[in-house]
Amino acid sequence: MKVLVLNSGSSSIKFRVYEAQGEIRELARGIVERIGEEISRVRYRGPRGEIEYETRIASHEEGLGHVLKALTDPEKGVISDPSEIRGVGHRVVHGGDAVSQPVVVDEEVEAAIERFAVMAPLHNPANLAGIRAAKKVFPDALHVAVFDTAFHQTLPEEAYLYAIPYEYYEKYRVRRYGFHGISHMYVAERAAEILGRPLEELRIITCHLGNGASLAAVKGGRSVETSMGLTPLEGLVMGTRSGDIDPSIFYFLMKWEGLSADEVYTLLNKRSGLLGLSGISNDVRVLTERMEAGDEAAARALRVYAHRVKKYIGAYMAVLGGADAIVFTAGVGENSALMRSMILEGLEGLGIVLDEEKNRDPAAHGYVVSSDSSQVKVLVIPTNEELVIARETLRLLKSKG
Ligand code: ADP
Repeated sequence: MKVLVLNSGSSSIKFRVYEAQGEIRELARGIVERIGEEISRVRYRGPRGEIEYETRIASHEEGLGHVLKALTDPEKGVISDPSEIRGVGHRVVHGGDAVSQPVVVDEEVEAAIERFAVMAPLHNPANLAGIRAAKKVFPDALHVAVFDTAFHQTLPEEAYLYAIPYEYYEKYRVRRYGFHGISHMYVAERAAEILGRPLEELRIITCHLGNGASLAAVKGGRSVETSMGLTPLEGLVMGTRSGDIDPSIFYFLMKWEGLSADEVYTLLNKRSGLLGLSGISNDVRVLTERMEAGDEAAARALRVYAHRVKKYIGAYMAVLGGADAIVFTAGVGENSALMRSMILEGLEGLGIVLDEEKNRDPAAHGYVVSSDSSQVKVLVIPTNEELVIARETLRLLKSKG
C-alpha cells in the first residue's frame, strides 16, 4: 500500500511517497518550488533516478499535477496510476482546539483550518490550498490531516491560559496552542526506544531548534507544557522571530517609531531573533563562523539564543519535577554541537553533563551525548515529521477498512 505525504507551503509543495509492506519505507521524495513566480522548479528523486526541470507553475493544483507526472514517469516513477496512492497525509499547522488527533479531512475539518488561519496566516491557507488541490488530483485517496498543534492539546489549563481577561479566551479562544507537535511527539517516542524504557515512565524535554524553534515538556508521552503560544512567535529566540518579549515593547515601538500594529508584528516575526540581534544572518552556521572569526555581534546573538533555551530547560525541569532525558532535534539541534554545548553549559547542578566528544558526533555514539554519569540523558535525534504523517495516514486507512 502506498501513501503520499504533502507539506504545502505558500509557494512550495514538499512530497514523499511511502510504501507499507509490514515495515514502512520511503520510495521517493521531491519538491515543487516557487509556485506563482515567473520560473518554478520541480525536483524529484526516486529509486530509479532523479528528475529536475524549471517551468511556470501558477497554483498548487498545477504543482500537484507536476508531482503526479514525476510519480508516474514511465522510467523513474513509482506508480503507474494515481489510484495506487491510497492515502494522502497533509501537514497542517494550526488546528486550534478543534482537533487533537490526525483526522480524515471532511468539510468540518476544512472549516476548522480556515477558522484558525487568522492565527497562522502564512501556513493554514497554503495547507488548505494543498488539500483542495490534492483532492482533485488524487480523488480516490483518503485524505488525512495531521496538525502541528494536536500533540499539545493535552496541556493542562494552567499551562495554556494567559493571564488576560478570561472573556478573551471564551470569545476568541486566545490561549497557548503550541506547534512542532509532530516533531516533539516523534523524537520523544524515539528517545524512549533508544533508552529502552517505556515512554509512559519518562519525563522528557524535547528541543526542536530549527528556523522556528520550540521546547516541549513531555510527561508519559503527553505534552504538558510548550514554549510557542497562540502563534509560533512566542518562546525561544528564533532565526527571525523574537520569541518572548515584554508585551509593552509592542506599545512603545508603535509610539516611538510611529509604526502601525501590522508593522510591529512583521518586525517581530521577520526582522528579529538572531537576524535582528546580530544584524548579520538568521542562520546559525553563518553566525558560528563569524563568531569564530571574532565577530562580537554574532557571538552576542548566539549567547542570547542559548541562554533562552537554558532558561526554558530549567523551567521545564520544574514543571516535570525533574527530567529523564533532554532531546535535541531539527536543523540547529541536530547539527550544531556548539549550540548544544552552550545551552547545557553549567547545568551539572541539575544532573546534566554533556560528553563533549560524543557531542561532536552523536550518530557514532548511538545518539546519546551525555556522559555516563549524567543523571539526565541527553540525546540528539533527527526528526522525521513526514514518517509520522505517513504512519498516521496508514493507521486511518486501515481503520476505515
Ligand atoms: P525549518 O524550521 O525551516 O524546517 P530546519 O530544521 O531545517 O528549519 O533548520 C534550519 C536551520 O538549521 C538553519 O537556519 C541553520 O541555522 C540551522 N543549521 C542547519 N545546518 C546546520 C549546521 N550544520 N550547523 C549549525 N546550524 C545548522
